[in-house]
Amino acid sequence: MGASPALTLISEYDPAARAIRINGASLRRVVRVLGDAEYDNVVRAAVAHELYHHEVAEGRIAALRDRRAVEREAEHFVRVRYGIDPTRFERVLR
Ligand SMILES: [Zn+2]
Repeated sequence: MGASPALTLISEYDPAARAIRINGASLRRVVRVLGDAEYDNVVRAAVAHELYHHEVAEGRIAALRDRRAVEREAEHFVRVRYGIDPTRFERVLR
């Protein structure tokens, strides 16, 4: 697993706006490489990843201090809660 998960390039969480944003160009790039059938999985994984950050911001999940550990936990959250392995998308965006 990489230090900087690819999903951070596809999406972001804005705690002030309590908003999840998807980067359309990154999403299209992943889908172009992996195929249209992956579209839903990429969006689901990206939203789930940012949902982890939202849950931390809302105090429902304990905050970690180490940035890399936070991103690893976000990926773990995607895997466990949504059954999607986000490392598949990482390879495309590196
Ligand atoms: Zn993240």
